[in-house]
Amino acid sequence: MKKPVHALQTHFQVEHDCLLVGSIPLMRLAQRVGSTPFFAYDRALIRSRVEHLRTVLPTGIHLHYSIKANPMPALVQLLAGLVDGLDVASAGEMKCALDTGISPQYISFAGPGKTDAELAQALAGSINIHLESETELERLDKLAMAMGITPKVVVRVNPAFELKSSGMKMGGGAKQFGIDAEMVPQVLKRIARTSMDFHGFQIFCGSQNLKPEAIIEAQSNTFQLAIELAEYAPQAVRLLNIGGGFGIPYFPGDLPLNLEPIADNLKTWVTKLKISSPETVIAIELGRYLVGEAGIYVTKVIDRKISRGQIFLVTDGGMHHHLAASGNLGQIIRKNYPVVIGNKMSGTERELVSIVGPLCTPLDLLADQMDLVKADVGDLIVIFQSGAYGLTASPNDFLSHVKPLEVLV
Ligand SMILES: *Cc1c(COP(=O)(O)O)cnc(C)c1O
Repeated sequence: MKKPVHALQTHFQVEHDCLLVGSIPLMRLAQRVGSTPFFAYDRALIRSRVEHLRTVLPTGIHLHYSIKANPMPALVQLLAGLVDGLDVASAGEMKCALDTGISPQYISFAGPGKTDAELAQALAGSINIHLESETELERLDKLAMAMGITPKVVVRVNPAFELKSSGMKMGGGAKQFGIDAEMVPQVLKRIARTSMDFHGFQIFCGSQNLKPEAIIEAQSNTFQLAIELAEYAPQAVRLLNIGGGFGIPYFPGDLPLNLEPIADNLKTWVTKLKISSPETVIAIELGRYLVGEAGIYVTKVIDRKISRGQIFLVTDGGMHHHLAASGNLGQIIRKNYPVVIGNKMSGTERELVSIVGPLCTPLDLLADQMDLVKADVGDLIVIFQSGAYGLTASPNDFLSHVKPLEVLV
């Protein structure tokens, strides 16, 4: 059997042996940024990803961006103009969303453990609040009455089914997310007794999925469940957020997600729902699929050393900026992200190297025994697929190095 390889990273172009970000050669961009390491996000790639989704998905489906994936303000600002809604999960993300100028009716606040202070902020901001438990419902009702504000609520449902083959499961079984589906009818009855403005349901089961058949099965189950639960709704269901879970290829053997069969199945359900529930807007919430492939992490080689026959490139960046690429963000088996030497794209002399960071821990490993173009001190290492869950999902303070910059190009 052939060894699995990384999916080709052809979305970034190459000119004179150097990777281009936007149309800027990486070496020039590094000079412009002024210091390494840094994250660079390509706005044209983000735009074309959104356009692609709009072309393939049935018309009328709303696209939401989940800020958790990458909260860089300039990037969120860009997305605010491209998508139909922003999903937030903290007061900080809510501020980031509001700062874009998007109307609060297009901002949704989900997540377990929302504090009274956060709920009050969301109420004052006229944000949609996704209820994650019955006690949260009670707290929100009290706060809303005290503040004299009618809350706009969505019930987040923890379904009995799950999204199979997901990088992260966030629904099915016992979970801290959402209200168990079987409890939802009685919760809806409680909502009916309050002055809350019920908007609809959110059913999110998982993340980072590359199997269309698994996504199709979960989405069909989601629509089925939503239709069943709608019978108990105190008002017409105006929003059905069906989650997302679209994955991107990170590791050798991963293939880009084929959206066509997913879109075909969605079309059937959208048509069905349009007949039974014409006022329902269907939304899909995506994080990494919108921004993950548009971002790179760039770090400079500081030292090159050989230890008992193995070559190590020691860089100025590492797991404190990019925990996921080091394999420490929930992965069970460590695998390499796609990596290139950004200023030596077509070198013919290759070697097997490990790329490590400056932290005093063996966990600080960015590439393990990878076959790469031969690199020297000063060369720029590029880690692809780094536009989501990079800087924001990393322990920046570990070892007290300087925080890297992020640029939107
Ligand atoms: C994390 C999260 C997302 C985004 O997941 P991606 O894998 O980045 O697309 C969407 N919705 C909810 C509720 C989440 O918690």
